[in-house]
Amino acid sequence: MSISKTYDSLVISSASTGESDLLVTLLSRNNGKIKCIAKGAKRSTKRFMNALEPFTHIDAVVRSSSGSGLSLLENATVREGYEVIRSDYKKFILASLCLELVDLWCREDQEEQGIYLLLLWYLSSLCGDRDGLLSTLIFKTRLLDACGYLPRIDTCSICNGPVQGRWIFYDPATGQPCCQSCQNGQNGYKISMATGMSVHFWQSQPLEKIFRLKISSLVAEEAWSYLKNLHSNVLERQPRAYKLVDRLFKQP
Ligand SMILES: [Zn+2]
Repeated sequence: MSISKTYDSLVISSASTGESDLLVTLLSRNNGKIKCIAKGAKRSTKRFMNALEPFTHIDAVVRSSSGSGLSLLENATVREGYEVIRSDYKKFILASLCLELVDLWCREDQEEQGIYLLLLWYLSSLCGDRDGLLSTLIFKTRLLDACGYLPRIDTCSICNGPVQGRWIFYDPATGQPCCQSCQNGQNGYKISMATGMSVHFWQSQPLEKIFRLKISSLVAEEAWSYLKNLHSNVLERQPRAYKLVDRLFKQP
């Protein structure tokens, strides 16, 4: 017989399924990603109130399935709604991208406490007066690092020497940097040293100090495309939300 358990979770997505149900994806603090069905959630607004909207921090009561079927979401209580994100289009789009990345990176039943805590930090930063784009760059850097796919940008991946000079050349597929002499005149991808050092700062500094570094719009732009390529290449797909984000930042 299956038993119900309560999971401290963030709602990653909810999608309509069947006539009145919702398929809900959660990232739980201690049990990783959980997919479950909220029966009748579209019909009865009373039982779940607004608890199943993306970004919501909830206590989810889930009954795991005894067979191969999906688990059932029996109840959900809101801890924090993060309404500020829903009322600000720019923040909403940026946070939607980060949820999609979390969904793509995390597997079910694999503990992801580091990513859970990072996402909690990110949603709180967005609701405070922190810059949305900078918070998102930091989030994407730390997410890649948590998944083991962010190279050390200050060390040449070929000769192991320090990367020096104005530019850091890198392999677009892996993000691995190489110094000017190893680059050997090839027409490689490159970012400025200032961008490389910013990414290194976001990777290596504790979150309490992370907003101390101020960046120029040029660094933000370069870091954005470096991290976007890296996420998309490793995941072997471009997250859908990038279309909306890119449109947002092309507007004057
Ligand atoms: Zn080198």
